[in-house]
Amino acid sequence: MVIILKKDAPKQDVDKLWHDIETQNIKIHEIIGSHTTIWGLIGDTHKIDMEAIEAREIVETVQRVQEPYKEVNRKFHPEDTVVTVGDTKIGGGNVTVIAGPCSIETEEQIIDTCLQVKAAGANMLRGGAFKPRTSPYSFQGLGDEGLRLFLKAKKATGLPIVTELMSLDHIDLFNDVDIIQVGARNMQNFEMLKELGKCNKPILLKRGLANTIEELLMSAEYIIAGGNTDIILCERGIRTFETQTRNTLDLSAIPVIKTLSHLPILVDPSHATGKYELVEPMSMAAVAAGTDGLIIEVHNNPQKALCDGAQSLTPKRFEKCMEKCAQIGNVMGKRVGTL
Ligand code: PEP
Ligand code: MN
Repeated sequence: MVIILKKDAPKQDVDKLWHDIETQNIKIHEIIGSHTTIWGLIGDTHKIDMEAIEAREIVETVQRVQEPYKEVNRKFHPEDTVVTVGDTKIGGGNVTVIAGPCSIETEEQIIDTCLQVKAAGANMLRGGAFKPRTSPYSFQGLGDEGLRLFLKAKKATGLPIVTELMSLDHIDLFNDVDIIQVGARNMQNFEMLKELGKCNKPILLKRGLANTIEELLMSAEYIIAGGNTDIILCERGIRTFETQTRNTLDLSAIPVIKTLSHLPILVDPSHATGKYELVEPMSMAAVAAGTDGLIIEVHNNPQKALCDGAQSLTPKRFEKCMEKCAQIGNVMGKRVGTL
C-alpha cells in the first residue's frame, strides 16, 4: 500500500497517522520528494482500512500495490535510483559502460585489457575470478589469485571493479571489490540474496536464463528487504527456441523494467548474443531503448581467451562500438561512458 500525503500537512497529524499505522505492525518506508511525501507500507496491509486513511485531511491518495514486489516498485519510489561508485553514477540519465574480459587469466592480460578499455571510454572494469561454467572440466577462473590480479588492474587504471560472487564462503575476499555481481545462475539463490541485502556494497543482479522480469524484480526485493538499496539490474538474454544466438536479448525488458521499477538496468550484449559481431549493433539498440548502461566482454587476444572468446571484442572493436553508441547517446542527450 502506498499513501501520498498532501503538501504542507501539519506535523502533528502526520505523526498521528504514522503512529496509528505502526501500531498495526506495519513498517513505513518514507520518501520525501520536492512536491510530495510518499509512504510505502510493508507488512500485512490487508487489515488496514484504506477509506478511513483516505478520509484524513492530510492524505492525498491511497493506492494498493498489487505487484508482489514492493520496495523495488516504482509506485513506492517514483524517482530513479542512482547508484554511485566512486566518481561514477549508474542510473539517472547517462549510459555507464563496464568492460573487460570474461575471466581474469594473467597479469598481463587483465592489466593490458583494462588500460585499453579505459582509453576507449569505459567507466568501470569487469572480470571473473570465480566462474560459473557449465562443464566441470572447463577453466573455473583463478579464484582468489584472480581477484589479486584484478585489484592490480584497479590500481593501474583507477577504475572501479565488478566481479561475480559464486559462494558466500568467498565474501571476505571481496572487501576491495566495488560492485558484487550475482550471475544469472544465482539469481534465485535466495540465501545469497538475503546476505547481500545486509552488505554495504552495490549489487549487480543478472536476470536468470529462464526467468521472467517479475522473478528478477522479486530477487531484487530480497536484497532491498535486507536494507541494501544499491541494486543494479542486468538483462543478459534469456533462453528461447532460437539457436542462432547464445540467448535472445530481451530489449523490451529495458522499458518494461523502467516502468515497473526505479532500479537502474544494464544490458549485457555479450552473453545475450554469444557472437562478437552482434555486440555492437545490440549495444546501439540497447542505448536507443534507454538502457542505463552496458557490460561488455573485451579481451586483448580473444582467440586465445580461456572463456567466451567468440563473444569478446578486441580493444579496437570495443573502441568502435563505443563511438557508435556515443552517436546514439548524442541523439538522446546522454553521455556514453567517458566519451
Ligand atoms: C558473466 O558476466 O561473467 C557471466 C557468467 O554472465 P551470466 O551470469 O549472465 O551468464
Ligand atoms: Mn563470459
